[in-house]
Amino acid sequence: MIHDFTYLKPGTLQEALSMLADYKDECKIICGGQSLLIVMRQGLVVTDHLIDIKGLKELSYITYHEKEGLKIGAATTHRAVEKSELIKQRYPVLAEVEKRLASIQVRNWGTIGGNLAHGDSSGDLAPALIALDARIKLSSLNGNRIMPLEEFYTGLFETALNNGELVVEVQVPPVRPRTATAYSKFNLIENDQGIVGVAAMIGVDSKGTCKDMRIVLSNAGVIPIRAKSAEKVLIGKKVNDALLEEAAEAAASDADPVSDIHASEEFRRHLIKVLTTRMVRQAWDQVNLA
Ligand SMILES: Cc1cc2nc3c(=O)[nH]c(=O)nc-3n(C[C@H](O)[C@H](O)[C@H](O)COP(=O)(O)OP(=O)(O)OC[C@H]3O[C@@H](n4cnc5c(N)ncnc54)[C@H](O)[C@@H]3O)c2cc1C
Repeated sequence: MIHDFTYLKPGTLQEALSMLADYKDECKIICGGQSLLIVMRQGLVVTDHLIDIKGLKELSYITYHEKEGLKIGAATTHRAVEKSELIKQRYPVLAEVEKRLASIQVRNWGTIGGNLAHGDSSGDLAPALIALDARIKLSSLNGNRIMPLEEFYTGLFETALNNGELVVEVQVPPVRPRTATAYSKFNLIENDQGIVGVAAMIGVDSKGTCKDMRIVLSNAGVIPIRAKSAEKVLIGKKVNDALLEEAAEAAASDADPVSDIHASEEFRRHLIKVLTTRMVRQAWDQVNLA
């Protein structure tokens, strides 16, 4: 049963920030409600005030600038990201991630800000966005701060958000030439969270040597994990089957998965190896085709 609360509907971002400052830890933001209402129904979150930011047009946009890259407002729905022609053309991996994220119903209501702020390590967007070197913009009455998304996650369902702060925007730098990014998850139920997921971004120089590499794991620990020792295996080299195998082993060691009702720790590590191999190869193939 959901405990009683007062429902607040700010008309502007400024009003929402004032409400957050007034009610401090006695309030919660609600946007699409797709994750929050579940944990409220389970009694895991109890709050006196719900501040509904879903209708704030100031937070719902997708823009692109050649120098600054992509900016997505926090209240932009998953469906809007999935359907955006701009994103399909410039950041196809994000459109692909969205296609397999939850059901259309959830994607129609759930938002990118809610997905990231929820801090669920099985979320699909964070690994893909971290692979793309995204940053997250947070606002409060005291001003704005922008941090790498990679640093936003601090623990199990915990983020760097302070009391009084909102996620307002996700920023993705322009895609550099000769780079490609791929993401996939292994899930038992179609369009559900993955047992694990792997994102891989590869950047090569003019000779085809791997210059940049980011491998990011989802549901392989309490936060999205950069598989840095796997990245090191590939940087400075040309990808081949033996290196891929070595990188996949390293990614499985970088992970810190649990055993639960969905999968054992061993099975998760096995899946990480399989998906790392596939995603690095997919990104490698894309970059060589371009
Ligand atoms: C059936 C189902 C299947 C799902 N499958 C997937 C999946 O396959 N992959 C995946 O990644 N996700 C999945 N999800 C999660 C889904 O993506 C999220 O529920 C949704 O994106 C959350 O967005 P929301 O706007 O509904 O957030 P809400 O539920 O409104 O909020 C979630 C949390 O974020 C906070 N919050 C919301 N917006 C902000 C903000 N702007 N600033 C600060 N805090 C904020 C809230 O206080 C709350 O703590 C699934 C969910 C459901 C219900």
